[in-house]
Amino acid sequence: MADVEECVFCKVARGKIPAYILHKDEHVLAFHDINPQAPVHVLIVPIKHITDLEAIGAEDADIVARMFGVARKVAQELRFEANGYRLVINNGRPAGQIVPHLHLHVLSGRSFGWPPG
Ligand code: 5GP
Ligand code: ZN
Repeated sequence: MADVEECVFCKVARGKIPAYILHKDEHVLAFHDINPQAPVHVLIVPIKHITDLEAIGAEDADIVARMFGVARKVAQELRFEANGYRLVINNGRPAGQIVPHLHLHVLSGRSFGWPPG
C-alpha cells in the first residue's frame, strides 16, 4: 500500500495535509484546490484510493456517482450553479494528471474556452 501512504489526496482525506474541506462523507471528499485555475476551483475525490478512470471497478460505481452528486451539492452551496461550471478529469499524465488519485475538478467564476487547452 505504498501508493496510498505517499498519495497527496489520501493524506488530505486522513487529515495529514490540511485543506479547506467543503464536504466529507464515508465515500467522497471535496476541498478547494491549492492552486486555483478559476475563482472557484474545487476538487472532488473518492476516499478510496483509485488512481484513475481505468482503475475504477464495478464495485466503485456508486462512489463515482456520488462524486457527481457532491459536485452538484457544492455548486448549490457555493451558489455558482447559475453561472455555469465545468467539470474536468485529467486522466493520465499526457492529459495533465499530476496526482494519481482520481479527482474531479469543479471550476467556475469565469468563462471557459473550447476546445480546452
Ligand atoms: P491534476 O493535474 O492531477 O488533474 O490535478 C491535481 C490538482 O491537485 C492540481 O490542480 C493541484 O493544484 C492540486 N493539488 C496538488 N496538491 C494539493 C494539495 O496538497 N492540496 C490541495 N488542496 N490541492 C492540491
Ligand atoms: Zn490516494
